[in-house]
Amino acid sequence: MCTEANGQLRVISNGKEAKGAAHIHIITQREALIRGLKTFGLTVLAALCTIIIPGVHFLSVPGGLIAAPLIGIMVFLKSRGAIDGMSGTFHCPQCGQSNAMEYQEGKPPYFGSCTSCKNPCQVFPE
Ligand SMILES: [Zn+2]
Repeated sequence: MCTEANGQLRVISNGKEAKGAAHIHIITQREALIRGLKTFGLTVLAALCTIIIPGVHFLSVPGGLIAAPLIGIMVFLKSRGAIDGMSGTFHCPQCGQSNAMEYQEGKPPYFGSCTSCKNPCQVFPE
């Protein structure tokens, strides 16, 4: 569901930096819309579930129903164009060894370690 963009990555390991080539996964408008709708649906469901709780439902049910579309729109706007995963290659800033990394999903920064010298590194898309 993601679109891929060719970009660069920046890797930092113990204060040293290096750059590399990256494929960056970007959330499409369509995927962002699905996420927004899902959040909307779950918020409505959560609000309706509180119907059985006495004393709370006077506020939680109408409040949840009013908030649901707003939260859904917020998720849509936040997700649209956001980075959700990355793959790429880089040379370890510590030992210069070539490394390949792949993160199927998740927001940056990504954490890993060099396959050669085992130094931990942080990887950012650029
Ligand atoms: Zn290394």
